Order: sequence, then structure tokens, then C-alpha cells
Amino acid sequence: MKRTSYISELREIVAMERRQGKKIAFIPTMGYLHQGHLALVERAKQSGSFVVLSIFVNPLQFGPNEDYSSYPRDLERDAHLVEIAGVDALFHPTSAEMYPRPMVTYVEVGQLDSVLCGAKRPGHFRGVVTVVSKLFHIVQPDFAFFGQKDYQQYLIIQRMVKDLNLPVEIIPVPIVREQDGLALSSRNVFLTSEQRQEALILSQSLNEAEMLWRAGERSARVLETRIRDRITRESQGIIDYVEVRDAEDLSEVTNMENPVLVALAVRFGSTRLIDNKVMEVEPLV
Ligand code: AMP
Repeated sequence: MKRTSYISELREIVAMERRQGKKIAFIPTMGYLHQGHLALVERAKQSGSFVVLSIFVNPLQFGPNEDYSSYPRDLERDAHLVEIAGVDALFHPTSAEMYPRPMVTYVEVGQLDSVLCGAKRPGHFRGVVTVVSKLFHIVQPDFAFFGQKDYQQYLIIQRMVKDLNLPVEIIPVPIVREQDGLALSSRNVFLTSEQRQEALILSQSLNEAEMLWRAGERSARVLETRIRDRITRESQGIIDYVEVRDAEDLSEVTNMENPVLVALAVRFGSTRLIDNKVMEVEPLV
């Protein structure tokens, strides 16, 4: 596996592969990798492309009181994991390499970032989309892989690519969970064992909501209330939001006729966890 922290070197590595006719697959991450990230790698490898994975904890997407400085980092462990997983090139730039001068140019997100995590974390998606856009220009991938764990992020990136005519195909990858249902996240390491146990309420309440939906419940408010009540009753988690939204444009939903996203964010101590489920009628085959 090739690895570099320099943009110019990464560009050379990618250009060489392109000259040999290879397609480029790209997976942007913030590191502290787990099986969720590795599922993206596996999916990227299936495309038969040269696989580039980046690790960059992007200061631009963290608010002033968020966990930028304490975000978990372990580059050598990550490098080992991705090498075993078959990544072809690891790009791990420093902040100085990515932001050598104060930024004056940003990619702005409209509408899609005014709800869910965007409403709770002002400026977060502007930071995400700006760095992803920079990374796309550096790597120039044919395909880029994003986890549905961050469903709103996936939708926003997909929309940016369409709006700005970027020549990259965005490929979503389903959420990877622990056996007991907890969605894998780099932030899970911050949970105490008690919080870890209580956090199971997230996937359990989403599963319950899905069962209700399958049984014919179509009221978005009823589902939201059921999830909220259960989290409040059975855990010490502080709810940031629990919302049912249209799965394609995140617009408000009252009656769930089209595919919907049921998304939530809950704090356990200082650790904020997100999870979601998309509910849609499975196509008949
Ligand atoms: P992060 O390092 O948290 O910024 O995540 C990098 C990429 O991995 C994003 O596209 C995430 O959506 C994806 N990802 C993180 N956790 C999971 C998970 N549990 N299942 C699937 N994808 C994930």
C-alpha cells in the first residue's frame, strides 16, 4: 500500500494508475477505523478500482464546543487495518497541508442542512461538503463511497455532486452494526460500559418503529413519539432530535406513504450518537 500526507504525491500516485487505465475509488474518513469503514473498503474493492482512502479529522466541520481536539486518532493502527483490507493508497494530510492559508472559499449547502444534524450543528455540513469537495478535486475519483450511518451527509454530498456536475458517482453503503445492534462509530470508544448498554435503545427503538410501520402505522408523529418515549423511559440519553423525514429530500412528513428516513441523535454523557433507518416498501421481485 502506498501512503502519503502530501497532495502532490497523492496526485502523482493516482495519475499513474489512471494512465494504466484504472478507475479510482475513494473513501473519505476521519480515521479511528472500524468495521463500518472497512465495509466501505470492501464495497470499493468490488468495483475493481484503485482504492484510495483518506484519513483527515477536518477542523472545518467541528463547532467551537465540539470534540475536534478529543476526536480519537490512531494513524498507525488505521494504516495497518486498511493495508490488510486491501486499500491501495492511504492519504493522511495534515491540517496545514489541507488548509495552508485561511479559507475564504466554501461550498455552501442550502435547505438540506437546515434540518436534523444540520440544524443542531450549524456550519457542520458546510465544513463537510467543503472538505469533501477539496478531496474530490485532489483525488478525482470515479466512485466515492459513503455510509448510510450518516444518511444526511450522504444525501447532501450526492446533491452537491449533481448540482456542481462533479464527475463522480456516489455509492451508499448500508450501516454496519455490532451484533447487539449498536451502529459502529469511532465515538463509541468514549462510552462507559453503562452508556454502551443504554445506547442499545437507539437501534431497539428504531427496530420497534419499523415493526409498527410494517404493521401499518403511517403517522410520522406517532412513530416519533414512540421512539422518544422509549428513549426517555429506558435510558439517561438526552435526545437531540428524533424525526421522520422524506428519505429523498428530507422534507417534513405527516403520513408515511413514500420512503422515509427515521433519524435520531442522542447524547450519552458528552458523547453524541446518531442512528437511522430508511423505511420503504421493498420492491416485488
Ligand atoms: P467518519 O470517519 O465517521 O467520518 O466516517 C467515514 C465514512 O464511514 C462515512 O461515509 C460514514 O458514513 C462511514 N461510516 C461510519 N460508520 C459507519 C457504519 N457503522 N456503517 C457504515 N458506514 C459507516
